[in-house]
Amino acid sequence: MAFRLGIIGLGKIAQDQHLPVVAKNPDFELAAVVSSRGGHGEVPAFRTPAELFRSGLALDAVSLCMPPEPRYAIARDALDAGLHVLMEKPPTPTVGELDAIAAHARTKGRILFTTWHSQYNAAVDEAKRLLAGKAVSRLHVSWKEDVRHWHPGQEWIWEPGGFGVFDPGINAFSIVTKILPQPIFVATCVLETPENKSTPIAAKITFKPSWEGEAKLTAELDWRQTGEQSWNIDVETADGLKLQLRKGGTELHVGGTEVIAAPMAEYEGIYAHFAELLRSGRSHVDGAPLRLVSDCFMLGRRRETEAFF
Ligand code: NAP
Repeated sequence: MAFRLGIIGLGKIAQDQHLPVVAKNPDFELAAVVSSRGGHGEVPAFRTPAELFRSGLALDAVSLCMPPEPRYAIARDALDAGLHVLMEKPPTPTVGELDAIAAHARTKGRILFTTWHSQYNAAVDEAKRLLAGKAVSRLHVSWKEDVRHWHPGQEWIWEPGGFGVFDPGINAFSIVTKILPQPIFVATCVLETPENKSTPIAAKITFKPSWEGEAKLTAELDWRQTGEQSWNIDVETADGLKLQLRKGGTELHVGGTEVIAAPMAEYEGIYAHFAELLRSGRSHVDGAPLRLVSDCFMLGRRRETEAFF
């Protein structure tokens, strides 16, 4: 029988991915939506999460598709209402809230799934497989895109808790933390922040390895790139392996030769995994990308740049 799912927040990502992907996955039945802007076809619609949780409508799970700031309270109320919870990335604005909501899910015996969509790519899985057991000697992340194109009219990204350029940058970090065989730590970070905004428009980061030995580990994030967009990760190992992930993790090149170029099916992968978690009764909580971003803000030096409109 299909899992009865509610989707909370019908913004860009819910419209682009969650609604169409759930519609074609027979493991799920869209049984409710929550939106301040109206409903979705004939599906029962509620204006606030609280109205849904009070309604007594039979549901198994909810997907939280709003920005991270209000997520903790909504996830807590969903768990208290007996529902399993899928969270869009980033799961919460702080590591403390993520730890608390994971503990609350365990207490309530409900499943919590923190999604990181960029991890659901065959090229990323293959990169992880190839790097297993190796010593990484070089990492460079270049994640540069046009904020005006990807986030039109979204003011929350410029507010504290909205992550600024780390909203896309955390996608790169979610790939890095998945494929590297050992953790990396933030060493230094410069946060270029427009004088009229609270969150950075660009960041330059150096990392340090958790393993013994030399490694040059760097990342450049920038939201001011027009024209061709860059979502690239290069990794080299001490024994000479050279990997290049391109196009957000959908393409893998090894030693200059393309080995995987798959069409994007990240949200299909997310909902297939969610169905497995629901069937097996396991949570999947991954805080590693959020911890790296948190450490960038912790160690970051703010550098003011020109106002952005
Ligand atoms: P968005 O277009 O601004 O939509 C967010 C929606 O969340 C709003 O439209 C609203 O839904 C709902 N919402 C806002 N505040 C709320 C609150 N306090 N309580 C309940 N619902 C609330 O944002 P988005 O681009 O979809 O991003 C949402 C999340 O998905 C972010 O964490 C983002 O990082 C992630 N994400 C976005 C993309 C993308 O391409 N945009 C890709 C992957 C992941 P209603 O208008 O229906 O009320």
